[in-house]
Amino acid sequence: MKAVGRTDFDLIIAGGGMVGSALGCLVAAQAPEIRVCVLEPRPPESPPDDKSWALRVSAISRASQAVLGHAGAWSAIAAGRISPYRRMIVWEGDDPGRGLSFGAEDVGESELGHIIENALVQWALASRLEQLPNVVLIPAAVEAVGVEPAQVTVIAGGHGTIAGRLLVGADGAGSPTRSMMGISTRGWSYQQRAIVTTIRTERAHKDTAFQRFLPGGPLAFLPLCDGSISIVWSTPEQDTDALLALGDDAFLEALSEASGHVLGKVVATAKRAAFPLGAQYATRYTDKRFALIGDAAHAVHPLAGQGVNLGYLDVAVMAEVFLESLCQGQDPGDARCLRKYERWRKGENLAMLAAIDGLGRAYKVGSGPLPYLRKIGVDLLGRTPLAKELFVRRAMGLAGDLPRWAVA
Ligand SMILES: Cc1cc2nc3c(=O)[nH]c(=O)nc-3n(C[C@H](O)[C@H](O)[C@H](O)COP(=O)(O)OP(=O)(O)OC[C@H]3O[C@@H](n4cnc5c(N)ncnc54)[C@H](O)[C@@H]3O)c2cc1C
Repeated sequence: MKAVGRTDFDLIIAGGGMVGSALGCLVAAQAPEIRVCVLEPRPPESPPDDKSWALRVSAISRASQAVLGHAGAWSAIAAGRISPYRRMIVWEGDDPGRGLSFGAEDVGESELGHIIENALVQWALASRLEQLPNVVLIPAAVEAVGVEPAQVTVIAGGHGTIAGRLLVGADGAGSPTRSMMGISTRGWSYQQRAIVTTIRTERAHKDTAFQRFLPGGPLAFLPLCDGSISIVWSTPEQDTDALLALGDDAFLEALSEASGHVLGKVVATAKRAAFPLGAQYATRYTDKRFALIGDAAHAVHPLAGQGVNLGYLDVAVMAEVFLESLCQGQDPGDARCLRKYERWRKGENLAMLAAIDGLGRAYKVGSGPLPYLRKIGVDLLGRTPLAKELFVRRAMGLAGDLPRWAVA
């Protein structure tokens, strides 16, 4: 850890998770003259071990890859274990052949994105923060925030008071800094918990991600580079404990059944864990000398694999707005600068949250006209090349109002 030295910074980031540390790396790498402080009470201590797969993985979009590249962390990530996925099949009912299937080749690309262990992304970013001479990483939590006209101060457990021009809250869905700033949230529980584990199947996944919508919630198979598969199985809360408690053989059978044997039988499994699922958004993203990014601003159901990808777009926009205001001699903690960030990201994040929420609810309805309408929608999308290309580009993070750091 570098010595803190001066305690005045241009940018203070509360939370060095996948999102906050990316903002620190990106801003510091692009502007060596500015001083950045990242506060993280639980910085990674070692790289992930290669013997087994970590339970937490994320589907990282091409746009997020670009952000991590500009932050100077992608080469270290790519040197670790990353798993490209080139095709995706989404279906309901018994026949995956009648679902939506799309691939990187639909848009002339080599892959749709990569499945990466969260721990690898965090390790690469933390190592990069350590290398950057203009970054100080403090292994402590923000305990209090004070806003003054010309600066914001934070009390960092055991490390005294630190001052900056802007404080960014990247401290996750339960964001303590968001509460300290009095920003409220709206949210709801899906009354589901996502079971995650790593499995092997009879047939090879061929770099294809699968998602089957079941009445209780979606089941995703995410392909890993050694032939195994990371799963995210959204299960009704009342069933989760029983599934977690099953012996391996019974769990393999339940999972084979739930997957519709899309890759034959599930033949091996590792340890399991479960995470409660909900949606949440902050009613405001900014306040005086303060802004929220990542899960601190919005948390979504993992069914579309978008959570951290939305966070990386926040990072790209925040970096762009912050650096632009410095370039123009403006105060980056100024309300005008922060409003630009909020206007750009809040609407897009809310639209994505609503779309993911709507999709999850629509697939829960098993009777009436909705199943028929879903089938027509999927057929139309599959058969209209232009619509399909737009859909795939959007899913890859290659379409929409992209900030400069989200483009390779
Ligand atoms: C089962 C599951 C599967 C998922 N799959 C995907 C996927 O495929 N693709 C995808 O894009 N997303 C996925 N997500 C979502 C993704 O994991 C989150 O969006 C992402 O981890 C959020 O990162 P973050 O850095 O914003 O927050 P966090 O990861 O919560 O990090 C917050 C950090 O802040 C720190 N902190 C807390 N309090 C303080 C404080 N007072 N001061 C300083 N620091 C503090 C914490 O220690 C932590 O390191 C999934 C989520 C789940 C549950």
